[in-house]
Amino acid sequence: MKKIALVFAVAVLAPSLVLAWLAIRSLSHQQFLLERQQSLLCQGISDTLARSVQDELGNQQKGFNAALLALLDQREPTQVARSFDEVLRQKWPLADVGFAVTFSGGILAPTSPRPEARKFLAGNGQFLANRESAEVYLNTKQVLANSPATSPQSKGYAQAPADANSANQQSSWNVNNLRKVVPQQQLAFPQAAQVEENQQQFSKLAPSEAEFRQLIGNDAAGAVARFVDNKLCLLFWHVAPQNPELVFGSQVSLTRLEQALAPIIQQAPAQYRREYCLALLDDTAKPRAISHPGFRANWRRPFVATEIGEMLPHWEAAVYLLDPAKLSHAARSIKLTLGLLITVLLLAIGVGSWLIAADLNRQLRLARQKTDFVSNVSHELKTPLTSIRMFSELLAEGRVHDPAKQRSYLGIITAETARLTRLINNVLDFARMERGEKKYKFEACDFAALARQAAEAYRPNLEANGFQFGIELPDKPLMLTADRDALAQVIVNLLSNAEKYSNDHKQVEVELRVATTPLPYVELSVRDRGLGVPPGAGEKIFEKFYRAHDSLSSGIQGSGLGLTLARQIARAHGGDLVYEPRDGGGSCFNLRLPLAQPTEESESA
Ligand code: ADP
Repeated sequence: MKKIALVFAVAVLAPSLVLAWLAIRSLSHQQFLLERQQSLLCQGISDTLARSVQDELGNQQKGFNAALLALLDQREPTQVARSFDEVLRQKWPLADVGFAVTFSGGILAPTSPRPEARKFLAGNGQFLANRESAEVYLNTKQVLANSPATSPQSKGYAQAPADANSANQQSSWNVNNLRKVVPQQQLAFPQAAQVEENQQQFSKLAPSEAEFRQLIGNDAAGAVARFVDNKLCLLFWHVAPQNPELVFGSQVSLTRLEQALAPIIQQAPAQYRREYCLALLDDTAKPRAISHPGFRANWRRPFVATEIGEMLPHWEAAVYLLDPAKLSHAARSIKLTLGLLITVLLLAIGVGSWLIAADLNRQLRLARQKTDFVSNVSHELKTPLTSIRMFSELLAEGRVHDPAKQRSYLGIITAETARLTRLINNVLDFARMERGEKKYKFEACDFAALARQAAEAYRPNLEANGFQFGIELPDKPLMLTADRDALAQVIVNLLSNAEKYSNDHKQVEVELRVATTPLPYVELSVRDRGLGVPPGAGEKIFEKFYRAHDSLSSGIQGSGLGLTLARQIARAHGGDLVYEPRDGGGSCFNLRLPLAQPTEESESA
């Protein structure tokens, strides 16, 4: 049994409790997990948007190249260069300022005095003329010897940790140019966010320090982005095929570029727009295009965002939750459901364990009682057998001549034989009851007469042992339908117990009364002034094998079956047998049986 308890504890209880504990722990992570899932989903959306924006930028660059090549087809490159600013603005809608420079550092265009052109030259002139190097974001495949490693594809902050610090060591670009981003999901779970904070908060893109000539290298065309007075300046350039010394280029109008990019955001698939607001953010986190015009949010804290890339450094395709509360509601209801499940699980584990423990305990007790029973019965059989053998041998050998002594010995032999018979009857009856084979022979009988007969039969035994025995029975017959032998067995068991557990107070009484409520019944009380039943054991004494006074401590022999049988017989007759302590010490057992007019003889199983 102990082994089973151990196996249960190790194989079932401990793992269940560990699982329950893990489940409880995971409850507190629910919101984070949900947000994590949601952010993975949104990351896909913002990545797709960023790719579409990159594609559109590529298309615009191709548009510029086509417009330039068309012009160069019509005229000499040097002729085109002179009026390039004016002509390009007519031919290519995104042109802000057209420029033409030579590799040796000459600026051929723009030459007009219009303010945009003057401003352009003020900001970019030195750089285009190769007189100073500048911090640029490259979109060519060329990697300069002193530039930090830049990734061709930008990724979302939440997923692609950028090693801003190491980039910083390789180049002296200005950290202030990089926008600090705290994705919204991290706010809900600051502990988790903190771990990756350093890796997530800066843009992945780092500028390289280069001269214009250096970054062109051997390429035919490309794009370069740089910040001039903290304003983004995007330049497309193309080397003239007819004259590789000449480079044509254009500053892209960001306002018009924005108009070209807006449809990508506004016409994003409806399933995205149902739950999320999509936005194209510039390098100052200002929305340049949004899918839901009236939507307001802390633009610096998108749910997730993906950088567009080197052509638009620190611009992002960003995703915002239209209803951020929905996520916490969902997390709350998941938490509640899981919480309930875990509670039910814990309750089930608790109740199950309690039931198993109680059953194990019961089985252990029963096993112990069975062992005691075997030794008790063996002892109970041995004691009368020894007396019977001893006295019968004395008589048989003719060593006792005194007739009084002979009578006394014969009396002892009779009493001990009766005791043996009682014990064996009890054991056999108990075995029959356990197998459901006990049969009663119900017939009309006068219980007053039956009780008198049984009590008087026991009187010599009691009186021989010094007992005062009082019998109080009504004279009139009390008819009930009963199995005579079974009821006689109950009475003898009760009297035998009264005798056994009486100690020095040798006083036994039998009383029979009639009561009428709730139905007419008879009550036979067997009272003694003996040891009494210990407190708390008043019901247990009716359980099989249970002994409140065990043989070791009390020295009183018994099988623990007498009262079990007596109660079962009483109940089979529609009555009961109960114990009640007596004022002044001793026990009182009340046998209650319903009074009934017998109609017919019956046999019942
Ligand atoms: P046993 O063979 O042990 O007497 P019983 O089923 O007849 O078995 O009784 C169960 C237990 O109830 C006894 O072991 C004893 O502790 C207690 N008991 C029964 N009758 C009396 C009594 N008259 N006085 C005190 N205790 C009693």
